Parts: sequence; C-alpha cells; structure tokens
Amino acid sequence: MTESNEESSDCRYVRVLVDAALGGSSSKPRLFDYEIPDELVGTVRVGHIVTVPFGRRKVAGCIVQLRNEPAVSDTRRVSGLVMNEPHLTADDVDLAFWIASHYLCHPALALRAMLPPDFASESRGTERRLVPSVQSPERVAAEITLSDKQKQVLLAALRLGVPATRARLCRRTGVSGSVVDALIQKGILHWREVECSSRARETEYQYAPPDQLTDDQAAVMAEIKPAILRGESEEFLLHGVTSSGKTEVYLQAIAVALGEDCSAILMVPEISLTPQMVARVRGRFGDRVAVLHSELTRKERAAEWYRLHRGDADVALGPRSAVFAPCRNLGLIVLDEEHDPAYKQGSPPRYHARKVARRRAAQAGCPLLLGSATPGLESYHRASSGASSHLSLPRRIDGRAMPKVGVVDMREEWAAGNRSIFSRGLHRAILQRLRRGEQSVLFLNRRGYSSFLLCSDCGEVIQCLHCNVTMTYHRRGEGLRCHYCDRRIPVPTQCSSCSGHRLVRRGSGTQKVEAAVHAAFPGASVARLDTDAARIKGTRSRVYQDFARGDVDILVGTQMVAKGWDVPGVTLVGVIDADTALNFPDFRSAESTFQLLLQVSGRAGRGDRSGEVIIQTVAPGHPAVEMAAAGDLDAFYQSELQERKQAGYPPFKALVRLLFRGRPEARVQFWAQDLRRRIEEVIGDRVQVVGPAPAPIDRIKDNYRWHLLLKGDLAGESLAGLREVLQNVPVGSQDPRVAVDVDPVNML
Ligand code: ADP
Ligand code: ZN
Repeated sequence: MTESNEESSDCRYVRVLVDAALGGSSSKPRLFDYEIPDELVGTVRVGHIVTVPFGRRKVAGCIVQLRNEPAVSDTRRVSGLVMNEPHLTADDVDLAFWIASHYLCHPALALRAMLPPDFASESRGTERRLVPSVQSPERVAAEITLSDKQKQVLLAALRLGVPATRARLCRRTGVSGSVVDALIQKGILHWREVECSSRARETEYQYAPPDQLTDDQAAVMAEIKPAILRGESEEFLLHGVTSSGKTEVYLQAIAVALGEDCSAILMVPEISLTPQMVARVRGRFGDRVAVLHSELTRKERAAEWYRLHRGDADVALGPRSAVFAPCRNLGLIVLDEEHDPAYKQGSPPRYHARKVARRRAAQAGCPLLLGSATPGLESYHRASSGASSHLSLPRRIDGRAMPKVGVVDMREEWAAGNRSIFSRGLHRAILQRLRRGEQSVLFLNRRGYSSFLLCSDCGEVIQCLHCNVTMTYHRRGEGLRCHYCDRRIPVPTQCSSCSGHRLVRRGSGTQKVEAAVHAAFPGASVARLDTDAARIKGTRSRVYQDFARGDVDILVGTQMVAKGWDVPGVTLVGVIDADTALNFPDFRSAESTFQLLLQVSGRAGRGDRSGEVIIQTVAPGHPAVEMAAAGDLDAFYQSELQERKQAGYPPFKALVRLLFRGRPEARVQFWAQDLRRRIEEVIGDRVQVVGPAPAPIDRIKDNYRWHLLLKGDLAGESLAGLREVLQNVPVGSQDPRVAVDVDPVNML
C-alpha cells in the first residue's frame, strides 16, 4: 500500500483514510488525497493522525500513503497533526490493509481497532482532576471561613489520597458542584492533569520466578530463547497439560524479550476470566505491564494505550484486541489457550487474533508462541506439518496424577430401566461427595439450541451424507434438515445402522439439569452458571466466590465453568451428556467436544484429594469421547484430521461463510440463492458453494437467518473476486443484510 516510503520526506501530498468513512457499510476504502502545508512537509509520516477538511466539517484521518502527485488536481490541505508522534507505524497501516483484504472488510475498521479510544482528541488518556493544596496546609488549617460543606469536601479530598474528579467529590459528600468551585477559587483545591490510572494497576503482589525450571520447562525455553534473541519470526506450539507450568514459560520468555530491550504481547481469551493471569504478570513485571481490559473505562483504556505507545510500559496483556497493542520493537507475541474461539471477533473486522499475530510477528521479526492444554486442530496440523515447532510439557508440576476418567454408556442405563438424567454411577458418586463434604461440578457441554435424532439402541445419530454434520430435527413435521446444504429427509422410523426402531429426540438444557439435581439430591446446595444466568451482572463472580468458599455443593454449568476455575474442593466432575455438543450442527463439534472434555477433566482434583470424572454418553465409542477419556490427544487429532480431509474442511480447505438476515424468509432465501449464482459465475471454478440453508439458529428477533458456505481455494484472487461480487450487488434498505465471515469459527 505504501507507494513512497517514509524517507522520501519531500512529498507534498498524502493519502488519508478519513474517519468519517467509518459511517458507511461499504467495504470500499474512503481514501482522499490532501496537500501537506509547507510547515509540515518533511514531518508527516504514514501512520500520523491528522485533521482534514471534509465537506464542511473537520474530521480526523490516518495517513496511509505519502505521494508525489495527488490523484485529483483539486486537493484540499491537511489542517494539522493531532499529535507530533504518529499514532501508528507504516507496518500497522500495512497490517490494516492486509486485514481488510483477507477478511473483506473496510480498512478503516482495522485501523480503528488499532487506535485508542478518542484518538482524535487531545486527552491522551489524561483527565483533569482535583488535588488538595499541599503548599499551605497551615493556611488551610487557618481557613476558618470555610463552610461546613466546604470542610466536608476538603476532608474527603484529603482522605481519598488520590486526585479525584469534581464529580466524584460531589458524589462522595453529597454537595453541589458550586461548593467544590468555591474551594478552587480559594486556592485550596487545584486542577491537575493526571493520567487515568488503570484499576488493574492497583494490585500489589509479587510473583517471583521459581528457584529452578523443571527439566521440561528448561527444554522448552532452550528452543524459544534463541529465537527471541535472534529476532526470528518462528512459530511455536506449546502443548502442555493443565498445571504443567506453561504460564511460567510465557513469563520467562517475556523476560528474555525485555532483556533485549524489546516489548511483548500476551493474549488471553477473556481477561475477565483470568484474574490470576493478570496478577501473575503484574506480579512479575510490575508497572511495565499495560492491561488492556475490556471493562476499563475509555479513558483508562486510552491511558494504557499511550503508556505502551510512549514506551512507559512494554508488556501488553489483554484479549484478542491486544494483538494491535502499540508495542514498538516487538520481541515476542504469546497466545495463551490458543484454541479458544474467543480469539475470533464476531463483528467486523472479523479477524482471528492468531492469524493477525502471525502476520504481525512476521512484520516485526519476532517469535509467536501459541500455548494450550488442548491445541486447536489447525495449530496442531501446522505443527505436525512443520509450519511451526512443536514443544511439549507433558507432566504436571506437582506430579499429581490426572484425574481418573470413566465413561458411562447411557443406553445400558435405559435398558436397565433407569430413566433419570443421572446414571447410577454418577448418582452414587454425587451422594458420596455430599457425605464427605466435597464438591461436584455437573457439566452440560452446551445449551441445547436444537434437537437431533438418535437411535437409543446403537447410539447412531443421523448425519448429512454430504456435509458430515448432524441433521437437525424440525417441528411441524418437516423432518430432518441439514443446516449446511439444506438437504431434507422425512423422519426415519428405523435406524440406518442397526435397524432398531427406538429413535429418540435429544438435546437438553442446563435448567432441566438443575431441576433434576434439586429433585434427586434434596438438601444439597446447588448453583447454576450459563449464559442465561450470567446475563445478570456480577452473577459469574458471585457464583464463583460462593463455590470457591465451599458454600455450594453442586455446580451445574456450561463451558463457562470449564475455563480456569481452580477450586480445590472439587473432586467430581460429571459430564451429563457429551452427545449434545458432539451432535451440534457444526463441523468442529467433535474437536470442541474433545477439547471441552479434557478441559473439564482438568477441573477435578486440583487440591490434595484425587479427582474423578464421569462422562455420560450414548456414543462411548466416538473418537472424541473415547480418546478424551484416555487422554490420547494424538490419536484423536489424527482421526479428526482424516475426517476433515475427506469432507473438505479446514485445515485442508479454506472456508467463508455468508450469513443473510432479514424478512420475510422467502426474500432472505432468494437473496442467498441469487448471491450463490453470482459467486459461482465469478469464482465457481475455484470454490465449492454449499447451501443456501437456514442457519442452525434460523431466526433471531424475527429476522430469518440463512447462510452459504464457500469451501476451497480462498486466497488472493478468489477473495478479490468475492469482494467484487459483494460490492456489485445492489442493496436496498429493505433487503436482507449480508455478513461475510472469512475463516468462520461460529457456525450458528
Ligand atoms: P499452567 O499455565 O500450565 O496451567 P502454571 O504455570 O500455572 O501452569 O504452573 C502451575 C503451578 O506450578 C503454579 O502454581 C506455578 O507457580 C507453579 N510452577 C510453575 N513452574 C514451576 C517451577 N519451575 N518450580 C516450581 N513451581 C512451579
Ligand atoms: Zn448437508
């Protein structure tokens, strides 16, 4: 994109991506050429934020190119720089245009993701706050003319110990702003510009490195360290079981980078779920850490951004957006729990942090370290095909054994006349924990969105022959339907595998399980945590605290409880129904079931008592269940890779999903069909188009949802072809909306 490089400082024109372009939904960049005023020639660089006249307004924009000649003869002039230093580098701008072309979005959206909140303003993450006068405490003391209210405010300001905003002083004392203003007039309170201190920075905690690395850790560091020192963009996949000391490896690797005067980025899937990680990183590197927390206020986030930008902080810790942290001289990028779907953004720009990190590491010439107890299949495949280096930490630090995992075949329970949600074994195990005062977690892989048809004799589930996904049962007698290719079949009366006649609908929810627990174990204290429950603010941390304190005997939850919950009192994990997730209409359902089963198993037996895991299923022979129980990751991934290869899914074929939303349904369907035709005309020789079909969640808020899947060679030319098709479709305001998701993760 950068036609002339930054060195050609005599350029008199710049190409600017104006911020106003963010208003439009078009994926065409809004780029305009401007003339550089004389006093700024030689100063402006790619990545500078400037103000420019735009229509009758002045707006902010980012310089994306320096030019000798403008594209149009009649150019207007840049009004000025927002900050002397450029906010972004030429590499950042380059990365934004790469994201735009790979994820088919507007580059302005990618640039926006890189910039701090309110980047066009002067504030830089600072704020005017009030401090009590310290020059003349005696004068303050002698100030007998203060009213009671004024004294109250002064006391509050002194007691706070930190500069406070005017509003905060008023809130604390219940007085009106005029009382505060009077104190300012008397010179007792002063305004001062202060940086908005991040709440995350208030932790006082030391996390010292261990005396010695384990042999496994040392071996891993011996691979990573030279790559950091050499400044190579090598990629590592660190596969380490839970509690094997991965976090310590991240911290040591970051320390190596800092020792080279480089900065580092450490990403975690959801920062609100990882207070322990924040504490450790801050406990090791102190104020050098900038935490880019989504729960910070805009000002706090901006303050952390500018600290990194100025180099006051050189470790960025945050969720996927931290991949854009303004770290200069980057020496290392780490993604913890790299398999987590949270690394994919669900709204434009729909980037995947791992892919962007790979690109950024290549730009910066620094290693990329991916860590997980259950690597994503795609990363696993990269490691086994030599695209990245595989490192492993196969043992737990404390030498504690992994919990004992048992699989219960629910068909045998039914045959024995047990109609309860709980198998006899799980029932017994829960009773035992209640008697011993130990805790249990009952886990339901996902909320049931849809139901499927299952043979209760052999456990076979009806799948689409073409798409390798479970067919969904529909009401209104529609039969079974594939939510990828829209194939429909009448509800069969016989199992195609064993010819049995007992086909049942399955798919149950957490609330049902909670009710069943109450009924089966009266007197036990039960809590539930799922997306519904967590919608009420604070529920998640309240439930966690109750549970960690031991106030809850049995916790019922979705995958929300699978991540990072370390409760030593838990000695039993029951997986109620491994099949719900397994038979989800998503080609990744086996992979995510396997990963979840391993993760939940990691929740049991973290204290000194050993743990037990019981998995209930009707498919004990399914590779995801069988190999999760055996803890055999390689065997499962090999078999899953075979399946993916046969069905033409990632990592063997690229995928793009087009989601259509609107009403009435016929119109949405027509649109999807029409787009399918247009796409096939242009790139039909390179991609296979599947669908249109109703999306697995086929209606949200009265909007019908249909999707199309493109499979195949979806790089350079075919992506450009697709972009062209999408840009040329005339769209009216009543027409369905189309969302384009490249490398989709969420298939709902
Ligand atoms: P993971 O990230 O793989 O779950 P952690 O890095 O959290 O593992 O390590 C698990 C526990 O072992 C932590 O309490 C950590 O402080 C401790 N630990 C890590 N490395 C060492 C070591 N070399 N010696 C002693 N304790 C260690
Ligand atoms: Zn199908």
